[in-house]
Amino acid sequence: MSYRVLKFGGSSVASATAMSRVLDIVEKEAQKGTVILVSSAISGCTDALLDGGPKAIKEMQKRHQDIVKRLFTGEEREEIQARIDGLFRELAVTPNDEQVTFGELLSTTILAAKLQQEGYNAKWLDSRKLVVKDNQEETYRRIKEAVEGAEIYIAPGFICQDAAGKVSTLGRGGSDFSASLFAAAVKAESLQIWTDVPGIMTANPKQVPQARTIPTMTYNAALQMATCGAKVLYAPTVAPAMEAGIDIEIKNTFAHDGKYTVIGKEGPKGWIGVASQADTITVVGSGADGVPRAEKALLTEGISALSIRETEAGVELKVRQKVLEQALRALHRAFFQELPTAEIGLFIAGDGAVAHALYNMIKSAAENVEARTGKRLTIVGKANSKRYGIDLTGYPVINTQGSYVDAIINVAPKGSIFVDCTNSETLYKRYTDLLEAGIGVVSSNRRSFAVPYPEFAAMHAAARENGVPLRYETTVGAALPILESISRGANSSDEVTSIEAVVSCTLNQILGDYLPGRESFASMVRRAQEAGLTEADPRMDLGGKDALRKLLILSREAGVRLEEKDVKVEPVIPADAFKGSVEDFYAALEAYEPELARKADAANAKGERLRFVAYLRKNGKSYEAGIGIRSVAPEHPAYYLRGTENAIIVRSAFHPYPLVIQGPGEGAREAASSILNDILR
Ligand code: ASP
Ligand code: MG
Repeated sequence: MSYRVLKFGGSSVASATAMSRVLDIVEKEAQKGTVILVSSAISGCTDALLDGGPKAIKEMQKRHQDIVKRLFTGEEREEIQARIDGLFRELAVTPNDEQVTFGELLSTTILAAKLQQEGYNAKWLDSRKLVVKDNQEETYRRIKEAVEGAEIYIAPGFICQDAAGKVSTLGRGGSDFSASLFAAAVKAESLQIWTDVPGIMTANPKQVPQARTIPTMTYNAALQMATCGAKVLYAPTVAPAMEAGIDIEIKNTFAHDGKYTVIGKEGPKGWIGVASQADTITVVGSGADGVPRAEKALLTEGISALSIRETEAGVELKVRQKVLEQALRALHRAFFQELPTAEIGLFIAGDGAVAHALYNMIKSAAENVEARTGKRLTIVGKANSKRYGIDLTGYPVINTQGSYVDAIINVAPKGSIFVDCTNSETLYKRYTDLLEAGIGVVSSNRRSFAVPYPEFAAMHAAARENGVPLRYETTVGAALPILESISRGANSSDEVTSIEAVVSCTLNQILGDYLPGRESFASMVRRAQEAGLTEADPRMDLGGKDALRKLLILSREAGVRLEEKDVKVEPVIPADAFKGSVEDFYAALEAYEPELARKADAANAKGERLRFVAYLRKNGKSYEAGIGIRSVAPEHPAYYLRGTENAIIVRSAFHPYPLVIQGPGEGAREAASSILNDILR
């Protein structure tokens, strides 16, 4: 005779619908062998019996009667209803400490009646007479004797008798244990615990939504999970099944064919899952790095453990109740959600403000980045304009002379990225070599992309053909997602009809603050230069060269093959002033003050403001482009720019209103953040 023991928990029998589901499962199993169905009380019933008071008990009576009403009709319904009412009358005169045993009597009475009605040779077993607390041998003897002749047995879980023969229980959650005892007694072929979650999971899914089912685990791992607080299984359940060599399957009543757990002799080693009880969390399992890994995981959330130690079960730690769930999630992430880590080696060039901001940012953000994206960033190369250092283990020191790029091409592992934070005019000539060697290029150096269009196009072709990234979002508007937004439009064939870019931070700020008669324009530029807000040579800013480069990049991103010669540049002051020395330039600028004042006064008189604008405009079939000072009215998006803000205004054929991107357009930190995002994209 082969037996199959199926245990159903409280939520699996909570309603008529739930019970029907149980009966379906049982009937299917009955085709494979004799079924012993062990059931809990309907959900909430044990609690109500323990301390619910008369009102809660009345409610329970009604819930049971409702189930009966829906499962039975006619005479049978009346008969079962009478039996349920009878049990409630008996309950009323039962000593308090025994009342708790009625929940399982009620649920199994209904289940047995239903199976009998359906024509099964189904027999109800009185667990109070069969299960003797703390006496396994006697329990097994009585169970073996009791199972004789029926197709399906229905036994209440949880309840038993004690050594003196008095009615008792196996403890809260004890129905699982009942099922294991029945299974061991009859040497069952299958022991199935049906519950409301898909097996034992890596965490309680109510606390950690990312928890996933553990498909197989050893008896010992299951025991540890249960002992440390995993509510899905009552810990004493494991021993009888283990001794009898029976696998325990933990299944979900509400998704028959879904994921489940098999507990048996075999199972994975290492970290199993995380469980908690009151303020104590245990990462169950074993591994060399448990404590530091747990500490690191909590640290990323700013949580410090009140105590942490290794135990036989795994890593045990206590945290304040308030942060318990947060800690559970952090630990789960660190131990069970690890994304496959991709190593990205970074070869950085440059030692200016941007490079240093990037070093600092990577140092402080790398851990977080790895947790969020699964990408581990390691700086493996550094260089200034004269020397370089490469160390693939992550501690490069700048001390070698020679070609940095050649050295990189020789040693770079796949997936490496070259990061150009320099202002070099010539470094771009090596981009193609790097890209062809399978090394990605991320650059904040806008000079590299304002080169003649054929060279620009060749770099892109090399990146495309070698399947490696070439990104330079930083080159226009620092951290603002400008290039990406433009290329998105271009990719979807939304034709750009105009771009206006207010992208010269220095000039914006000076023009914004400039008030004729208060301080001369020249003096303001000088102060900006002293404060490090201009390029080293302020003529770069005032001559429009920087804005010109940005305009070339913007236009090319929009698919327009703009060259420098196509752009009509109107410098802030006449071109002659740009010859000679910087001091000559300041003198010329001072002499030009009346003309600038006149422009500013004219703008003010109209209620407008001066802005330095680079533009690209569709004119018939071609485009025209230019750079110069414009007077903008309040309805223009650039009117309200503050400080060093940038704005770019893109109009397209498809949309009546422009796309406007506005925000901080400058700063080493912004640039570093933009580079970092390009690296991770
Ligand atoms: N009904 C009992 C309890 O709630 C036993 C069980 O459900 O396993 O603790
Ligand atoms: Mg239970």
